[in-house]
Amino acid sequence: MPQKNDRSSRPTKLKLVVVTPTRIELEQEVDYVVAPTIKGMIGILPGHIRLMTVLDTGVLRYRINGSNYYMAVSEGYMEVTPEKVVVLAEAAELAENIDVERALEAKRKAEAELHRPMDERISFARTQVSLQRALTRLQVAKKYGKKKE
Ligand code: ATP
Repeated sequence: MPQKNDRSSRPTKLKLVVVTPTRIELEQEVDYVVAPTIKGMIGILPGHIRLMTVLDTGVLRYRINGSNYYMAVSEGYMEVTPEKVVVLAEAAELAENIDVERALEAKRKAEAELHRPMDERISFARTQVSLQRALTRLQVAKKYGKKKE
C-alpha cells in the first residue's frame, strides 16, 4: 500500500506554458520554474500545491537538464498545479528574442520622462512600469549565451 508521503507518485517534470495576448511564447517540459510575483520571487517544483498568483514584471527562470533559461515577463497572472505552470503575461520574451537597442531606447525614454517636472509628467506609475520592463529585458538579454550555470 502506498504511504501517505510516497514521493514516487510525485511528478518529476513540470509543463511550463507562457501565453501573451498574441501568442504562446513557450511550451516546455522543465525541472523547475522561478517566477516574479507581486509578493516576491517564487520557486515552483513539480508537485507544487495549486496556486493562483499575480505576476510581476521581471525575470522568469526555468531549468532543463542542468541548464538555466531566462525570459523577460511583464505583469499578468500565474496558475500553478502539481504538473503545470501557466503564465499569462502582457508580454514575454525569450533572451534570444530581445532587441537590446529597442530596450535601451525604451529605458532612455522612461528615464527622461521621470526626470521631467512633476506637473509635466504623463503618468509616473506608467513610466515606472515601462522602465521596469526595459530594465528586465536588458537583464535577460545579458543572460543570453550564458544558459549553463
Ligand atoms: P517599447 O517602448 O520598446 O515599445 P514597451 O515596453 O512599450 O516597449 P510592450 O508594450 O511591453 O513594449 O510590448 C509590445 C510588444 O513588443 C510585445 O510583443 C513585446 O514582446 C515586444 N517588445 C517590446 N520591447 C521589446 C524588445 N526590447 N525586444 C523584443 N520584443 C519587445
